[in-house]
Amino acid sequence: MAKSQNPRWTVKDSAQLYGIDRWANDYFGLSDDGKVTAKTLHTQVPLLDIIEGMAERDLHMPVILRIENILDAQIFRLNEAFRQAIDTLGYAGTYRGVYPIKVNQQAQVVEEIADFGKRYQHGFEVGSKPEMIAALSTLEEPGSLIICNGYKDEEFIELGLQAVKLGFICFFVIETPTELPIIIERSKALDVKPYIGVRVKMTTKVSGHWNTTSGDRSVFGLTTTQLIEVVDKLKAENMLDCLQLLHCHLGSQIPNIQDIRNGIAEACRFYADLRAEGAALSYIDLGGGLAVDYSGAERNEEQSRNYSLIEYCEDIVDTLKQTLDQHKMPHPTIVTESGRATVAYSSVLLFNILDTNNFEPTALPEPKEDDHPLLKQMRDVRAELNPRRLQENYNDTHYYRNEAREQFRRGLMDLRSRSVAENLFLDILHAITALLETMDRVPQDLEGLKQSLADIYYGNFSLFQSLPDIWAIDQQFPIMPIHRLDEKPTREAVIADITCDCDGKIDSFIGEYETQKTLSLHPLKEDEEYYIGVFLVGAYQETLGDLHNLFGDTNVVSVRLNSDGTYEFVKEIHGDTIADVLSYVEYQPQSMLVNYRNTAERAVREGRITARERTEMIKSFNASMQGYTYYEK
Ligand SMILES: *Cc1c(COP(=O)(O)O)cnc(C)c1O
Repeated sequence: MAKSQNPRWTVKDSAQLYGIDRWANDYFGLSDDGKVTAKTLHTQVPLLDIIEGMAERDLHMPVILRIENILDAQIFRLNEAFRQAIDTLGYAGTYRGVYPIKVNQQAQVVEEIADFGKRYQHGFEVGSKPEMIAALSTLEEPGSLIICNGYKDEEFIELGLQAVKLGFICFFVIETPTELPIIIERSKALDVKPYIGVRVKMTTKVSGHWNTTSGDRSVFGLTTTQLIEVVDKLKAENMLDCLQLLHCHLGSQIPNIQDIRNGIAEACRFYADLRAEGAALSYIDLGGGLAVDYSGAERNEEQSRNYSLIEYCEDIVDTLKQTLDQHKMPHPTIVTESGRATVAYSSVLLFNILDTNNFEPTALPEPKEDDHPLLKQMRDVRAELNPRRLQENYNDTHYYRNEAREQFRRGLMDLRSRSVAENLFLDILHAITALLETMDRVPQDLEGLKQSLADIYYGNFSLFQSLPDIWAIDQQFPIMPIHRLDEKPTREAVIADITCDCDGKIDSFIGEYETQKTLSLHPLKEDEEYYIGVFLVGAYQETLGDLHNLFGDTNVVSVRLNSDGTYEFVKEIHGDTIADVLSYVEYQPQSMLVNYRNTAERAVREGRITARERTEMIKSFNASMQGYTYYEK
């Protein structure tokens, strides 16, 4: 079909461009009138409707929107996929999931997982005393697993032993040999038989961002020598029957299924030999690592994965069954600690665009007789652009522009002429970019040209607070406008946040085939907000954030979609006020107000303002203190 026909832009074109069907896992879709919707099996609700509902409740942008149904659905899918794999492959053991609290510790998330997970006895993985306490106060179902990783002191261990008394299966996973004597001593004192696990150091190498959790230098897990020490110590105490769980964790976001298979095969070797030593192993905990396909590429690369959920489950079950059958070992209960995959989908960061900056030339004045010679030279380049000599045209343009700047510095060109030169420069670069679009091969020097001319869209959010992994590890998330998707996006842009930090920008996006340096967006309309969604941000983003420029926590809204197409606000949490963030860094809002009052009183005394003005100023100071840290309209 000839491109020049330029068929009307449709919602389908947007779906293709932003890849929503590739990464959304069926949780988000597009409505016929061009809006992103949150989906369940029975219904879909436009995110824009939810934003309107928030505004009516005085909850403004930026907002983290959590959709409870999605969290429930992920727990359902994970448990059901394992059940299906176990059935299909005739595995004799069962599956028990635990959610690692560190991945998103927010009370509402943890409570929802405990509540929905009850039917599967979905438990928790905890790595510290605060997480342990969070787990103990939310889990209800006796028989649920609590897996304690991390370094454990006496208090931590006592909490765990009390959990066992309450009917939970609370495992202490031994990470260092020093923990063992405390566990032995405390369990005797409290007269509880402890559940003990050992974390082994894996040598399987894993690709991806987080691969240092495995291998020789991993800080976690016991070396083989330490493992033998633990076994001997337990034997000596006549407690080897307490050693029931083998734990290994290869890392997070493992993109390659083969690495997972290799890891499990290695774990099975430990499992078999520890059982041969007399340990009563009956659980194998494979840790986290189940990846999220952020890019939707279904490939073995960092932001993706080359397997589906059911393949992940089947490969685990299959590898365990085959390896253990060879050793004639009974099939253990399979435990996994999927965090990222459980919570990533359920949160969306929403923000509005405050302003844009573009690098378009403004209208160029007609050439005049007495124009500066450089302007004439630039006009000649413009008139003679040649697709076969674009590199040369580009070099000339640059040269003349730099020359114009130099002449301005030396007083040989006036401000108006300089402005025309800068404008001509932009005009020529845009013309070159347009010609590049029609070419098969772009000269290397000109590859970054399009990006250097991209608009800047200023978003009402802080990257450091809400999307720390974009800054810290170049993570990519799916990002797209959540409305106007039946309209062709005609601008190419990067997104800047409102911190005054040059790192506070997003300039790497998931593209149709590969990473893109710009995102296609719509021009802003007068009198209409433009909203962007950053998707799949439920894992690791919400509490890693810092108070860069003292932008605080955003508003958080949790909704539940009903099958009749309505939705409810389950919970709303107002973000930090300015007084909140100031007090985090040890200011005292009360005495700040007193100081301000005194300053204003002095101004009254000195006749700079009236007493009435002072009252107004104090009122607005107070209102600011109680207000949101982000841009308010
Ligand atoms: C972080 C962590 C997890 C979670 O990993 P995901 O890849 O997010 O599922 C699980 N187990 C342990 C021990 C961890 O440290």
